[in-house]
Amino acid sequence: MTARLLVIGSANVDLFAHVARHPTPGETILGQGGERAGGGKGANQALAAALQGAPVTFVGAVGQDGDADVALGALRTAGVDLSRVAAVADAPTGLAIITVSADGENTIVVISGANATVTPEQAEAAVAASGPDDVVLLQGELPRTTTEAAVRAAVAAGRRVVLNVAPWNALDRDVLTSADPLVLNEHEAAQAVEELGLEASGDGGTALAEALVTAGTPSVVVTLGAEGAAVVDASGTDTVPSRRVTAVDTTGAGDAFTGALAARLIAGDPLRAAVEHAVRVGAYAVQHHGAQPSYPGLEQELP
Ligand code: ATP
Repeated sequence: MTARLLVIGSANVDLFAHVARHPTPGETILGQGGERAGGGKGANQALAAALQGAPVTFVGAVGQDGDADVALGALRTAGVDLSRVAAVADAPTGLAIITVSADGENTIVVISGANATVTPEQAEAAVAASGPDDVVLLQGELPRTTTEAAVRAAVAAGRRVVLNVAPWNALDRDVLTSADPLVLNEHEAAQAVEELGLEASGDGGTALAEALVTAGTPSVVVTLGAEGAAVVDASGTDTVPSRRVTAVDTTGAGDAFTGALAARLIAGDPLRAAVEHAVRVGAYAVQHHGAQPSYPGLEQELP
C-alpha cells in the first residue's frame, strides 16, 4: 500500500486587506484592494505536500457555508482526500482577517470557527484508519486536546509523527518529545526549550534544536528564515543553508517548508535530504505572493 500523509489541522479562509498603513483603534480607513484565499496551517501544509507529489488525506472541519469552498478549493484541485473533513452546522468556516501595509507589516486576527470543533475522536478515527507506513502531520491550530490525542494515537499505532507546533501551544511533554521530527521556527523553539525546562548553549536555532533533542525528541528541525534550517538527531547536528533569493512575501513559508518536508519523508527520503528539499521549497514560496498561491508543483524549478 502506498504511504499517505495524514494532515490533521486547520482550514481557514484568509481575508486580505491591503492598506497604506494600519488603522488606529476607532479609525476607519480605505483599503487599496483585497482578496480571499484558502489558508490555515493544516490546509497550507496539506497543499504544499500534495503539490510535491504526496498522496494526502486532510482531517479537519469547515462550516456549512460558502467559505468552506474557498477554504478547501485548492486542496480539492490538488487531489487531496477530503472525505475526513467534517461540515459542521454549529460553527462557521475558520477565518483569518489579515491587513498588510505597504511596508509589508501585517496584523492577523484568526477566528477558529469550525476548527475548534475537531474532536479527539475524529482525529483518532482517522489515525486508526491509516496504514503502517503513513505519516501523521499536525500543527498548533486545533484544540490542544485534539492534537495531543492524535499524537498519542499515532504513536500507539506505530506511525511516524511530524509535529509543527505553530502557533506555539504548550503541549504535554510526552507529545512534544515523540515528534520525529519536531519542526519549529526559532521563536517557537525558544518557547519549547523554556516549556520543557531545558538549558540551551545559546539562543540560536541550532543550540535550541540541540537542547530539544536532549529531552528525548528523536529529531528536531528548526527553520532559520533566510538562513535555511538546522537539523539535529542522534547522528548529529547539521545546518542546511538556503540559496539567497529575493523575498517578496514570506507568508506561509513555514507551511511550504513543513509540507514539503513531510512529502519527502513519505517518499522515503532520509531526514537531511528531506530538509534540503524543504529549504528549496520554502525559498521558492518567499519569491511569490500569498501563502497557498506561492507553493510550487513538481514542474516548477526550485532555487
Ligand atoms: P512564516 O511564519 O513566515 O510562515 P516561519 O517563521 O514559520 O515562517 P521561517 O524560518 O521564517 O519560518 O521560514 C521557513 C522556511 O522558509 C525557511 O527554512 C526557508 O527555507 C524559507 N525562507 C523563509 N524566509 C526566507 C528568505 N528570506 N529567503 C529564503 N528562504 C526563506
